[in-house]
Amino acid sequence: MRDERGRYLDSKPIADSVPAWASGCPKCKGGIVSAPDVRALPLYEARAVMGDAGMIVWCGCRAGLTYRRYAQRTFRSMNPLSAKAALDHINANLAAPSMHLEMERS
Ligand SMILES: [Zn+2]
Repeated sequence: MRDERGRYLDSKPIADSVPAWASGCPKCKGGIVSAPDVRALPLYEARAVMGDAGMIVWCGCRAGLTYRRYAQRTFRSMNPLSAKAALDHINANLAAPSMHLEMERS
């Protein structure tokens, strides 16, 4: 259904079009257990570069496996010089890792 200017009238929240498994499991957030908190780059590029550099702890759940494969594909599609520049940028701007996992206390 559209209005007189052709705009769609009914829009869905993003959460409604993302399958439930993609949110991750109790151990992760969207498949990531922990990753450096980098905000200066587009997230898909940052995650691709950090994933290749071993800086992301991926979850073993479906969301983690899927996100990891997506990040690997993204990394392979990047220009190597851009990827190197992105990694240098990330390393220069590293903040404390954001932990989504509650640490077990023994
Ligand atoms: Zn998980």
